[in-house]
Order: sequence, then structure tokens, then C-alpha cells
Amino acid sequence: MNYYRSKYVLPIASPLIEDGVVGVEGDRIAAVGRRTDFDGPFTDLGERVLLPGFVNAHCHLDYTNMAGKLPFKGCFADWIADIVVLKRLWWTKDYAASAAAGLKALLRSGTTTVCDIASSPANLDMVANAPLRVLSCLELIDVGGKPAEEKFWERCAGLSPHAPFTASKELYRKVHDFCRQRGKIFTTHLAESAEEAAMFERREGALYELLAVLGRSPEDCGRGSSVAWLDDCGALEGALAVHANCLSDDDMARLARAGATVVHSPSSHRFYSHPPFPFERLRAAGVPVCLGTDSAASGTTLDLRAEMRDFLSVFPAVRPAEVLAMATTAAAKALNQPGVSGTLSAGSRADMIAVPLTGAAKDVAEAVVHGRGAVSWMMVDGKVAHNEL
Ligand SMILES: [Zn+2]
Repeated sequence: MNYYRSKYVLPIASPLIEDGVVGVEGDRIAAVGRRTDFDGPFTDLGERVLLPGFVNAHCHLDYTNMAGKLPFKGCFADWIADIVVLKRLWWTKDYAASAAAGLKALLRSGTTTVCDIASSPANLDMVANAPLRVLSCLELIDVGGKPAEEKFWERCAGLSPHAPFTASKELYRKVHDFCRQRGKIFTTHLAESAEEAAMFERREGALYELLAVLGRSPEDCGRGSSVAWLDDCGALEGALAVHANCLSDDDMARLARAGATVVHSPSSHRFYSHPPFPFERLRAAGVPVCLGTDSAASGTTLDLRAEMRDFLSVFPAVRPAEVLAMATTAAAKALNQPGVSGTLSAGSRADMIAVPLTGAAKDVAEAVVHGRGAVSWMMVDGKVAHNEL
């Protein structure tokens, strides 16, 4: 067994350990405790905090190099139209370079597991040999075209019908059944914008008009929210619902009843100036919330600690330890990896990072979230993936 010692070990799922040690056997954690509990020898990570690698619950790695190319001009439908045009102009090599840049950014910032939305089957291979755990979810759209063929579905950790305005009820039902039967992640963008709400609830707005031009039937609009639409087609159960900014009390109740989890991306939310994220209401309704970065195309850096800081700037009453859990244990649970990723405990995967301890040590979780020092060391599956010690 190899032992790693650090000034602090922050397992997330259990209390902080000062002068702590994590024992690793193969790709798993075998023991966690105080240095005095073990004989060593130890690899000393120094005056740092050793904690589980971050779990990013929503990202689009293949859009990373779209950063700065798609400014938001105040209309969500226009932005969707802009990215559709840009995607058509990109070659496979552009997506490959983009995915590689995204993986690099995740490694630098301490993410060891990412739920990645692949925009096409060709892009799945681009992350297949990544130095971190990539849970690929193939994006599926059947408005204005055909979705990716089923032969690719089996290869993925999960599937992601894009959104209720670009994927049909039939596609949602089929994909949801497929994922439930095989224990795969089922994730979708949902209730993201005021324009999506206007489209589904009132048959109006820029998104409604754009989708009409693209040939989407308006028949199912004007009957209720997109959350109700998804629930009524049976695909809300156990869903990983990305964004969920525009929610009525009825939507909250539906999400809670369905056992759905919400992924919030603070910087993406800020980029589009969406209506306020209803964090307190979701928490009160018992809907778990975890964090994701979304894509660099919507103004994010893929750095989950930056997302945590952004979140705390909007919700200052939330404790840093709670927001750390949203990017570790809660995200791991939502991605069908509870107790396996996002925690340091015997039996979990040896996915961990060491970050410099800057600021006051009285609250180590706060020091981790607000620390600006780069991640100095990272291990994935028991192998060192990054080392700047
Ligand atoms: Zn997204």
C-alpha cells in the first residue's frame, strides 16, 4: 500500500483530519486516518489539503475553443442559432483540439470526473483515453434532423436529449427507457431560460419562433411548463436536469417527486443573465443540487472552484463545505457513483487532489474554495495524473 500524507485530509463525506494520511492500494483507497495510525513510509504532500478530485456534473468539452466566439446579445434563441451556425463551420479537428483543451483545463483545476456532453458520436473518441474520468453522454436532437444512431448509445456512460425544444417526446421516452434499463446517466437541459418558459407555457417568444422556423410542431406548446412536459412524457424520473432556472412550485414538486437532481452552472447562468437560480426553493423542496461548468462557449473557465466562488457570491449564506459537497459527493451521487467518486473513504476510487493551504486554516473548506493557488497534485485511479510538488 502507498501512503500519502498531508497537513489536512478533507474526505468531504467525513470530518476533516489534521496531519492525515490516505492509503492507496491499486486504483482504490484502502484507508484514511491520522498519520500516527500508520507506519509509513509516506509520500509527503506537505502543507496542503488533500481532498477528493472535483466532480463536474455538466460540461461540453468539445465546445471549449468556442470561448469568446459567441457573445450573448440578450436573446437566448439568437445564441442557439449562432452556435448551430458555428458548429456547422467546425471540422472534426476543431472539435478534437477543443476537447483536448477542455481536458487540460479540467486537469489544471482539479476535476477528476466529468459528465461530458458529446455533440456527435465522432467526438466520443476524442475523450476516450483521457487522463481523468470522462462519463460521456451523447447529445441527441431530432428537431430538424435525425438523432445519433442507437449503435452509439451503448458505448456511452449516459445519454442527453438536448432540451424539450429540440428533442421530441418520443425520443425522450425511448432514451429514458434505454438509460433506466441499463443504469446509464439520463441528463437533459431543462427550464433554462425565460424564452423556454414562454414557448411552452404561452406559445410565444423568440425561441418559439425560431423552433417554428426549424420545423418543430407547436402542438405541444401552450399547455404548461417544460418540466411538466417532460414529466408527462415519463422522462423526468431520476433525471439529471441541467439549469432549472425557471421553476414554478408545481415544477419543484414534480422534480422532487421524480427524484431528479439539478445541475447548476453559476457562470453560465451569469453569462445569459437568466432569472435568479431558485437554490433555496430547490433545497426546501428536497431537490439535490450539484455543480457543473457547462461549456466555455457560455463564458465559463471549466474551473469548478471558480464556479463555487461564483455560487457563494450569489448565495453568501451557504457554507463553503456545502458548496464543496455540491462539486464532489452530490455530483458523484447524481452520476451513479455514490461512495465511489467525490469522497475519500475506504473502497472509493483513488481520485484525489492536493491544493495549497492559503488563507485561514480555521475553515479548511473555505480555504480550499477561496484559495487561488493552483492544484499542485492529482491522482486518478491510483495513478498520479498531475504533479507540481
Ligand atoms: Zn450544457
